[in-house]
Amino acid sequence: MPTFQTVRGTRDLLPNDARRLRRTINKAAETAEIYGYKEVITPILECYDLFDAKSGEEIRARMFLFEDLGGRQIVLRPEFTASIARLVTASLSKAPKPLRIFSVGTVYRYDEPQQGRYREFWQSNFELMGSNKPEADAEIILLTNRLLKKIGLREYTFKLGHVGILRGIMSQNNISEQTQNLILQKMDKKEYNLALRLITELKCRSVFRRLFRLSDSISGKNPVDIVKRIKRVVRNYDKASIAAQNLLDILNLVTKSGCKIGIVDPVFARGLEYYTGMIFEVYIPELEIALGGGGRYDKLIEVFGGEPTPAVGVAHGLDRITLARQKQALNSQLTLVRRKHKKRTLVIPANQESVARALKISELLRKARIRTEFEAMGRKLDKALKKASRRNVDFVVIVDKLKLPVGKVVLQNLQQGSTEILTIRGFVKKLKI
Ligand code: AMP
Repeated sequence: MPTFQTVRGTRDLLPNDARRLRRTINKAAETAEIYGYKEVITPILECYDLFDAKSGEEIRARMFLFEDLGGRQIVLRPEFTASIARLVTASLSKAPKPLRIFSVGTVYRYDEPQQGRYREFWQSNFELMGSNKPEADAEIILLTNRLLKKIGLREYTFKLGHVGILRGIMSQNNISEQTQNLILQKMDKKEYNLALRLITELKCRSVFRRLFRLSDSISGKNPVDIVKRIKRVVRNYDKASIAAQNLLDILNLVTKSGCKIGIVDPVFARGLEYYTGMIFEVYIPELEIALGGGGRYDKLIEVFGGEPTPAVGVAHGLDRITLARQKQALNSQLTLVRRKHKKRTLVIPANQESVARALKISELLRKARIRTEFEAMGRKLDKALKKASRRNVDFVVIVDKLKLPVGKVVLQNLQQGSTEILTIRGFVKKLKI
């Protein structure tokens, strides 16, 4: 028989890994709730054209694309923002602004698999639509900060930039949007010489050279000072100057709200083409790849045929955030603490006559929020007990309709090796202390 394997870049998550990922997903959903983001669920399958419109070469080249039986070009979604923009344009265009939308699920990209990089991975996605104010940009960064804090990460760094500064310089030099995108793609890959080669305008090249030089010397510098220096470099460019002031406003708002920005990089660019303003990513020292990233995209809804709607959003890489938590070694400690509070209990019917009563008692325990498994293999009592101690069960509840009065059970504490006869209520109380 052949042994089947998962498709390259995809994984089976065994119970421990599934539990860790699910915990991260739940934290993202809790974050959405406390910030007032409403969840929407969109299909994993989308039309190719949706992403062809504005996602950028990086994403386009890495999509899982196929033709369905009706001859349509279909992709597995490579990100959420385009789907949300489609949904808003089609169904929520009249909804009061700002719109706060949350979604979570898997996305698919033909990336080269390595630690933290998969072809199927989970993202939580937050979009704030309808506001062009710096406080909207700040909110997206702050909620990312809150999520990472909730997860328990101790050390992480926000990196901030502004595509509007770079685009402002280029458009004042009449560089077409298409060439701008190409140049930003090179900058995203840190291929600065290739980017410069695409810039033929001399004046523009010298401004970019100065920004590249500034970018080389940002380490350890105060982000506010860096933005002030950017402002000086671009002072002859109106749009870029406005963008630099916008970056300063966002930086001040975020910092004053208690979230530290580690780095401002004047030539930071991101792969997605639709960004028009502030962009950011977040890193931990233990991993070189980003845990999440986002930014402002004021033109996308318009491209999809909607009313002009400024918007800002973020996508968090939930697999990487889960990995980050493990890397920062919090996982084992927290699991221990949780285990202390969440003991495992196994209910065993002592004989066939006791099965129904034992099942009923299992339900009562679950209702009291006690983690309860049921001996469902029909094993004899001594065999079931042996299995239980091998599987690190904390308590065994033995139900014996033939020997014990109604409501009473035998409780074995396998960790302490003690046995007593108790009422169910007594057992629940004991566990809750
Ligand atoms: P993006 O949509 O490219 O802005 O990505 C947002 C976040 O998704 C990144 O910061 C990563 O945390 C995560 N991510 C992107 N690509 C992958 C991948 N191939 N595997 C796992 N996570 C990813």
